[in-house]
Amino acid sequence: MTKITTYHADQIGGNVVVIETAHSRIAIDFGENLPGSEHEPIEIEGLSRGTPCFDGVFFTHYHGDHVGRMHRILPNVPLYLGSIAKKILLNIHQTLDHQNMAALLHGETLHELQDGVSVTVTHDIRVTPYRVDHSAYEAFMFLIETDDTTILHTGDFRGHGHSMQNKAGDPLTTIRERICQNGQRKIDTLIIEGTMLSRMNERIFTEQELQSWATIFFKKRRHIFLLCSSTNLDTLASFYHAAKANRIKMFANHYVVSQLKTFSETAGVEDDFYRFSTVWPIQFGKELNKNGFRGTQEDYMRKFGFLCIIKEREGYEVWLKKFQDCNPVLLYSMWEGYLDPKRSAYNPQLAAFCHKYHAVCKHTSGHATAELIADIITEVNPTKQIIPIHTENAEMLKKLPISEALKAKIVVPSIQNGHTGYML
Ligand SMILES: [Zn+2]
Repeated sequence: MTKITTYHADQIGGNVVVIETAHSRIAIDFGENLPGSEHEPIEIEGLSRGTPCFDGVFFTHYHGDHVGRMHRILPNVPLYLGSIAKKILLNIHQTLDHQNMAALLHGETLHELQDGVSVTVTHDIRVTPYRVDHSAYEAFMFLIETDDTTILHTGDFRGHGHSMQNKAGDPLTTIRERICQNGQRKIDTLIIEGTMLSRMNERIFTEQELQSWATIFFKKRRHIFLLCSSTNLDTLASFYHAAKANRIKMFANHYVVSQLKTFSETAGVEDDFYRFSTVWPIQFGKELNKNGFRGTQEDYMRKFGFLCIIKEREGYEVWLKKFQDCNPVLLYSMWEGYLDPKRSAYNPQLAAFCHKYHAVCKHTSGHATAELIADIITEVNPTKQIIPIHTENAEMLKKLPISEALKAKIVVPSIQNGHTGYML
């Protein structure tokens, strides 16, 4: 008998899924709640407190709402994380001097996952990661096989990033050909993320559309400050290539420069679209003598323009003010919900910053559209049940264009004490 327990499935972020058999127990993800959450930070007996009784924790990708509480996991519980995700997280935690996280990531309990390579956790649980498109690079879906059942956990995914270009990250193709092996493998339970089910009216741009838009926009505006996540590789690459097409250089603080270097050395090896060959660390007073130009970095930026990645902090306002005479534009490329006072994730500081500098908002979502969620459910066609997680509107799943037979398999978690159990 296999049992699934979902934790905090009724919110976006901070979800944990526990799968247990008669002999073994694993968890998938162990992250922080996003701001505005009504749940307490997650604690699980035998995983983050008490006597350890877990055989492994598998992380779908490096976003904080999926890995953020890794440091709370009891010692000696094996951790499984993608090899690129490990490097990205190491860069973050070494920069922030989080020594416990850095030690954990370097530690013997951390095992690196490779696309398509199965991990036999115990004699009755096997987990296979499959790469899929998401706003975090190297995100995984997990196929979990036990003695008596087969489960697919989608993690966070979408179908409109750059990895769709070569089909490498296409969730539908991956499920059809690699996971379900063109109908030869049946999935009993589908655990699927439903972030966009509460954001149905948002217009979705593809990363390619974002890049095309920016390429045209940068022809008119050459002095650009960009608010964007420093781990959103696809969006960073979209803007980088748009700037490059307009002969505009990218600038950032030392941390972002080192993160882009890490991406260039990992993702950039897999696909040279992700190679950031020239990103300059901000050193306004630095003397430059390049291609006939002599002067400071600030003079250079003033003369030729710039794409400069910033945060909404006071220190960066000095940068914005420094270039006021160039009429710089502030681009905001994160979820607009952070700027909306009606949303629980509202960020007043960020909203005030964007308002003050009349930010232009242009963002590509990291999550699957409702149409794609419906297509995935139909493609997987699970034999037993469909469990929505990572959503504030699980009921919406029943209104998607899927068959009545599939609708009958949807089990909306009834949240009691933050978790729901399913016997299989
Ligand atoms: Zn994510």
